[in-house]
Amino acid sequence: MIKVNLDTLKKKRVRITQLDGKLPNLALMKLSHWHKSKGDEVYFTQSAKRTLFEENYDIIYGSSIFNFSKKKQGVFLRDFPNAIIGGTGTDNKTKVEDIVDLNSYEYFDYDLYPDYQNSIGFSQRGCRLACKFCVVPKKEGKNKGNSGIHDIWRGDPYPKNIVLLDNDFFGQPNWQEKAKEMIEGKFKINFSQGINIRLIDEESCEILPQINYKDTKFKTKRLYTAWDNLGDEKIFMKGVERLTKYGVPSSHLLVYMLIGFKKGETWEDIYYRFNKIHEIGAFAYPMVFDNSNKLHKKFQKWAIQRYYKFWAWEDFRDKPLTWLRNQHYSKKGGQLDLLSEIGDT
Ligand code: SF4
Repeated sequence: MIKVNLDTLKKKRVRITQLDGKLPNLALMKLSHWHKSKGDEVYFTQSAKRTLFEENYDIIYGSSIFNFSKKKQGVFLRDFPNAIIGGTGTDNKTKVEDIVDLNSYEYFDYDLYPDYQNSIGFSQRGCRLACKFCVVPKKEGKNKGNSGIHDIWRGDPYPKNIVLLDNDFFGQPNWQEKAKEMIEGKFKINFSQGINIRLIDEESCEILPQINYKDTKFKTKRLYTAWDNLGDEKIFMKGVERLTKYGVPSSHLLVYMLIGFKKGETWEDIYYRFNKIHEIGAFAYPMVFDNSNKLHKKFQKWAIQRYYKFWAWEDFRDKPLTWLRNQHYSKKGGQLDLLSEIGDT
């Protein structure tokens, strides 16, 4: 007689928790898809805390992609001590595939984000470079291909808006085939993690203007990239020149600049990169390495909210936050309307 393990037949109650990040979380979407395919009941939330009326769960997952969410991770683990917590913001290297015990699982439950209309995914994993502050090479290794663009797209009636989470699109073998899919398929592409400007070659630059690259809202032409080390100025500028030569103007570039990582970095160093990026007509977006550094956070605010149009950093730096908040009143109220000056980044 065949013995049936009744535990495996029981429908499980699963809590799936997104602890940070604005974009849909692919790992959690996979887990949700897998559990639902087994008939389990999935409850998705972005709340770290157990709410008053929540029942008990058979399995609890949490995902955190940022190191600065440690406090929230702590709250989550206090309320759910048996939770499985993973993501790049944690020390747990377990992948979804390890949990579902399959080599690959490329199914995603978009129902977790009912208002989300775009399609999101990886056309490649890994990176050719190995920046000291970055977890990608450790977690994903050398550059390799992942899904095709048509596979990432959810299909009709969804817009042909693809959010790529790739860290090094042009480093994958046969990237040309995926670029062809983008161009011929008339997709709009948001390279959300940026293109690797230090390694951009003539061939990629020639193809790029044909790709309809867009910002996160799919409204404006936008390419994201980075200049993290002051010492990379030459190679960064060479990449910018190459892009311009083939028809990608610097005004399309949003350049992330890491601040606070390098020992001995001075304000002069930071300011130099900021100015150079603006001089070429691109937009500088400081990324703060240590979020507890209040001054760096304030500099970030000054840069990304375009306060520099109104105040020099030295003047802005010493203004109290309450004063800054008061600047957001509309002109109707007789005060400067900063927000109307702040365009899309
Ligand atoms: S280029 Fe980007 S993804 Fe690659 S190692 Fe550096 S920071 Fe990480």
